[in-house]
Amino acid sequence: MANFLHRASSILLYAARASVAPASPAGGAPASAGPVDPDLIDDLVAANRILADQGVLDGYGHVSMRHPNNPERYLLSHSLAPELVTAADIMEHDLDSNPVDLRGRTAFLERFIHGEIYKARPDVNAVVHSHSPAVVPFGVSNVPLRPFYHMGAFLGVGVPIFEIRDVGGMTDLLVRNPELGRALAQCLADKPVALMRGHGSAIVGSSIPSAVYHAIYTDVTARMQVQALMLGGSINYLEPEECRLVAANIVRTIGRPWELWRRKALGR
Ligand code: MN
Repeated sequence: MANFLHRASSILLYAARASVAPASPAGGAPASAGPVDPDLIDDLVAANRILADQGVLDGYGHVSMRHPNNPERYLLSHSLAPELVTAADIMEHDLDSNPVDLRGRTAFLERFIHGEIYKARPDVNAVVHSHSPAVVPFGVSNVPLRPFYHMGAFLGVGVPIFEIRDVGGMTDLLVRNPELGRALAQCLADKPVALMRGHGSAIVGSSIPSAVYHAIYTDVTARMQVQALMLGGSINYLEPEECRLVAANIVRTIGRPWELWRRKALGR
């Protein structure tokens, strides 16, 4: 009986583990967490095109989503300009950023941004990495990116700046290994946005629409802040309590612009 119980619990334990993290064959690619609803893949394809259309991503940058059936996997295209991404280009990766099914394609060099943030942030289900030119100046200046306009209120919790020199010394500024990815995730902490000095940003959300919203309005806020600073007077920024109240409400309205952006991006 004891033996049976032991065996049964081992099987259950194995099954539980398998459903969370399929074992990797020794030396090979990690196992797949299985097929994903094509509508969800279309969300990710749309996110790529929306962010390209809005000027948040250009030929560079990427956006990923956590695998809907397995939190230990994420989905990201192979190395490709975001505007060109189709469903067939989306590849599954484990959280160490090993692609499951590379098939001769090239993985993004900076995929560790995604894997290490998903490891550190169970609340995050989508990640954007952008070089958006409007945002870069705030990563190299001592003027903090700070919201004075309601659509950017989510930035009111603070926008940390990732200084890659602190971890990597002299680098080419790319997050090209797990250590740099971990340091970036640590800098992001519990925030929605981290700027990357001299490079760009890492932006997260609890869903694809939320990450896309954060990425678009981080960019808009940065452009508007430069305009307000150029007026020369002092700026009346949002109070932290205003940021909290706005952010709590606006999250319920994201479906509206998302529906518009998604339809335009997918041509339907
Ligand atoms: Mn980059």
